[in-house]
Amino acid sequence: MKIHEYQAKTLLAQYRVPVPPGRVAGTPQEAAEVAREVGGRVVIKAQVHAGGRGKAGGIRLADSPEEAEKIAGEMLGSRLVTHQTSAEGAPVNKVLVEKAVQAPKELYLGIVIDGSAQMPVVMASEAGGMEIEEVAATTPEKIIKEYVDPVIGFQPFQGRRLASGIGLEGKQVRPAVAIISGLCKLMQEKGCSLVEINPLVVTEDGELLALDAKVNFDDEALFRHPELQELRDDSQEDPLDVKAREYDINYIKLDGDVGCMVNGAGLAMATMDIIKIMGASPANFLDVGGGANEEKISQAFKLLVSDPKVKRVLVNIFGGILRCDVAARGIVAGAREVAVDIPVVVRMRGTNVDEGWKILEESGLDISFASNLKDAAEKVVAARQAS
Ligand code: GDP
Ligand code: MN
Repeated sequence: MKIHEYQAKTLLAQYRVPVPPGRVAGTPQEAAEVAREVGGRVVIKAQVHAGGRGKAGGIRLADSPEEAEKIAGEMLGSRLVTHQTSAEGAPVNKVLVEKAVQAPKELYLGIVIDGSAQMPVVMASEAGGMEIEEVAATTPEKIIKEYVDPVIGFQPFQGRRLASGIGLEGKQVRPAVAIISGLCKLMQEKGCSLVEINPLVVTEDGELLALDAKVNFDDEALFRHPELQELRDDSQEDPLDVKAREYDINYIKLDGDVGCMVNGAGLAMATMDIIKIMGASPANFLDVGGGANEEKISQAFKLLVSDPKVKRVLVNIFGGILRCDVAARGIVAGAREVAVDIPVVVRMRGTNVDEGWKILEESGLDISFASNLKDAAEKVVAARQAS
């Protein structure tokens, strides 16, 4: 789960990471009010679940409350397109108004889970402000890392190593170590998958300050943190993803035009592979899960065909805990409800398969039956050429 910068900064502040004074605003008047409270030059920052706002016009400076009001008025209600959003962009419903900070030096600090090391890794770089992916690709030596052993926890010496590695010295080392330990604590206590400050700056007075903040939570750990639920903002997400979560369906949108519905993640991946091998591309990954019922199958079917990019559908069910007759009823219900008018190929094996076929046949829906996975993929690829 992603959250906004202003929410991430509130969390950072709770872990004693210094952030600029300011607050979120939902109207231009409120933005002017915050600018007046903060005083002097302020920065107005579009709150969207995407980075790259700086280059996209989502970060602007204002010298007076009036100017803050005007800029907020232009941002609020608009959609911001950055290289991380879709072409339609993300809606700007709130802006963060903060004291503008002059800082010549922009640093990077981030923590992610390193899956192969099986522990969190803290990364720091003196090349902050820019995309860390780009730094990693062009000058990887500029990123220094420390692994956090989950048993021992983050150690202060690691913080000092990171701090000196990015050129901090003297009186900046202690606060830098405190910031990094704060981030590690936040990461662990709230079940984050990512905590990132880019840029972390050294102000003219030599203070360290988080100018930007990004915090993502591990969805699988969210059940432990009911207090985080209220930070969710569905307006920033693809409506199909929101629906998938509502029905507890594992759905990931992809770029192709073959909609897939499969039970089981491994089978879903095998299905996507064979679609690719046959020369087409999957429009999604969709695993309805082992214990799906008729309702869930029908919802999943409707969900995947509601993506306008889907031009043909491949259903691949292995009937075990989910019986084929239940799957068939779900498919028929879903297909009827949306009056599906694109080719649908079904491959089904396992428990109650004959009854399943019968249900599909008797439905009168235009469904092609496949005897095995290869046959199914061939049929779905051919379906496009015919239509
Ligand atoms: P992102 O582009 O979405 O990652 O948004 P950031 O919050 O990182 O802002 C992008 C850039 O805007 C930063 O790297 C800074 O150079 C600049 N910026 C952000 N906040 C301030 C600020 O308070 N004052 C000044 N002068 N620049 C800022
Ligand atoms: Mn940033």
